[in-house]
Amino acid sequence: MNGVRITEVGPRDGLQHEKALVSTDAKVAFIDMLSDCGLDEIEVSSFVPAKWIPQLADASEVFARIRRAPGIVYSALVPNERGLDAALAAKADKISVFVSATEGFSQRNTAGTIAEVLLRVQPVVRRARESRRLVRGYISCVVRCPYDGPVHPDKVASVASRLLELGVDEIDLGDTIGAADGAAIEALYEGLAGVVSADATTLHLHDTSGRATECAVRAAQIGVRSFDASAGGLGGCPFAPGSAGNVATETLVDALAKRGFTLRARADRLRAAGQWMRGAIASCPP
Ligand code: MG
Repeated sequence: MNGVRITEVGPRDGLQHEKALVSTDAKVAFIDMLSDCGLDEIEVSSFVPAKWIPQLADASEVFARIRRAPGIVYSALVPNERGLDAALAAKADKISVFVSATEGFSQRNTAGTIAEVLLRVQPVVRRARESRRLVRGYISCVVRCPYDGPVHPDKVASVASRLLELGVDEIDLGDTIGAADGAAIEALYEGLAGVVSADATTLHLHDTSGRATECAVRAAQIGVRSFDASAGGLGGCPFAPGSAGNVATETLVDALAKRGFTLRARADRLRAAGQWMRGAIASCPP
C-alpha cells in the first residue's frame, strides 16, 4: 500500500542535460553502481539521433555492456520507429515515448504538433507491445510550459487519454520546468480523475523552484506510487530554458521515507553514485 517505486533517470535525463560528453566506460560504471541502489527501474539511455543529443549517441553500447540486476527494469526513451528498432535490438525491457501537453513545447522539443507526435508514436507503442515490452508515455509540461505559460489539467488529461488509447501501460507526468507546488499537483490529479488513477502514473519532478519534495509528498498522499528522479540531481532538459535540475533521487527517497512510505531505494548509495558521476563529469575534457 505504502510502497513507492523509483525510476532513476540520471543516466538518460541527467546526462543529456550535461554539456560534457561522458565516456561510455563512465556511463556503464555509473549504471552498474545504480543497479546496487535498490532502484526499481533505471532509464539507461535514449535512442534519439546523435545530432539531437550527442551525449547519448552510445546508447546501444551502454545497453550491451551494463550488468543487469534481477528485478530491475532497464528502460529506454525512443522518439520514432528507427529508435524503437535500436532499443529492441539492445533488449531494453521497457520503451518510453514522449509527447508534450502544450503545442509550444511540442514544436520545439519534438518538431511537430501534439497530434503529429501522437501519430508518430502510434506505431512505436503498437510494435513495442507486440514485442512484449512495457510502454511508458511521458507527457511534458504538465503544469507550466516555458513557451505557452500555465497548463490547464484538462489539456494534460486529453493527451493522457490519447496515449492510453494507443496502449501505453503507464502515464509519466513531467513538471519539465519545476513550476509545480502542492496545490498544482492536487489540481493536476483532480483533472486526471476518470482518465487515469494516481497509482497508474509516475511523477517526474524538477527542483527548479525548490518545491519538488513538497510536490512528491503531496502526490504520494494523493496516491501516486511511482516517481522519477536523478541521482545527485543531474541534468534537466536541454530544450527547456530555466529547467535546471531533476530532483535528486536521494533527496526524494529521504523525504518519502520520512513520511512513512516504503522504498527499496537506498539514499546513501544513490548519493554516492551521484557524487561519483559528478566527479566523472568534472574530469571530462572541456
Ligand atoms: Mg527531467
